[in-house]
Amino acid sequence: MVRKIAFIGLGHMGAPMAANLVAAGYPVTGFDVVPAALDAARANGLGIAASGAEAAADADVVITMLPAGDHVLTAFGGGAHGDGGLLAAARPGTLFLECSTISVDDARAAHELVVAAGHRGLDAPVSGGVVGAEAGTLTFMVGGSAEDFADAAGIFEVMGKRIVHCGGPGAGQAAKVCNNMILGVSMIAVSEAFVLGEALGLTHQALFDVAANASGQCWSLTTNCPVPGPVPASPANHDYRPGFAAALMAKDLGLAAAALDATGVHAELGRRAGEIFRDFADHGGAGNDFSAIINSIRAAARNTSPQNRTPE
Ligand code: NAD
Repeated sequence: MVRKIAFIGLGHMGAPMAANLVAAGYPVTGFDVVPAALDAARANGLGIAASGAEAAADADVVITMLPAGDHVLTAFGGGAHGDGGLLAAARPGTLFLECSTISVDDARAAHELVVAAGHRGLDAPVSGGVVGAEAGTLTFMVGGSAEDFADAAGIFEVMGKRIVHCGGPGAGQAAKVCNNMILGVSMIAVSEAFVLGEALGLTHQALFDVAANASGQCWSLTTNCPVPGPVPASPANHDYRPGFAAALMAKDLGLAAAALDATGVHAELGRRAGEIFRDFADHGGAGNDFSAIINSIRAAARNTSPQNRTPE
């Protein structure tokens, strides 16, 4: 029997993910608080509900793709402004797939609410961006029981290419936050190396040709290269249009900082990367691809170069 899906949150990611489920033959009823998102969803073949609760009431599976943890807890019905929400409306045993990027603590709290309401749930954040959502090639990092993971696998496979069961509740978000901490730090490291290379008279291509085939190799260099030229498809060649927006990197590194606080782990570079991207996002960089961080690193290098130093 084809399962009925409720899809809550039809933004940049949710809209194409839901459209892929419709294209695969699932009956999907959507809801978003923004009316324009509902018009686009209707055009993609979704049924539209008057509220999230209405969509959830008639669903076997509820997928949420919301901006942040507060939105998820509130929509589920356990947040400060909860009104019963999705959990109270759904039939007992409904499978909740929570795909937003939220903190590990919020994911575990959400899971407890799901279970307390008599349902089943997985945290299943994604990577791959809007392009991956449209192409159905997302990576899903999943936390929850093996049985629920097996039950949801067919649905994830419609929207993604790589589906990884990471462990119990919250493990999907834990994997996501750790991966993105690597990504934030590595983009800064690659950018600093290019700016140092410039100051030393090295061409971008020369540094790329060496580092891309040596121990400096990483995704930030070989796929999302922060300078134009060596990787023609990287956002640097297109005015740093995202890609992965700096605002989202700042958000994810904020979640990493929260996880560092909660665990007491000392991670100097991860924490500092969060400060750097937050500052960049708050001062005009939010909508750029996160690789545009190289421009503020270059500007800072200019300000502190020997030529610009005032004699003591
Ligand atoms: P978005 O802001 O475009 O979409 C979120 C949608 O949720 C909006 O349309 C908003 O109106 C809706 N919404 C908010 N509260 C709601 C509620 N109570 N009921 C129904 N709808 C509600 O964000 P996005 O880019 O689609 O990202 C969604 C999540 O995926 C975020 O957690 C983000 O961090 C994560 N993510 C995004 C990307 C990306 O490249 N955009 C990549 C990986 C993960």
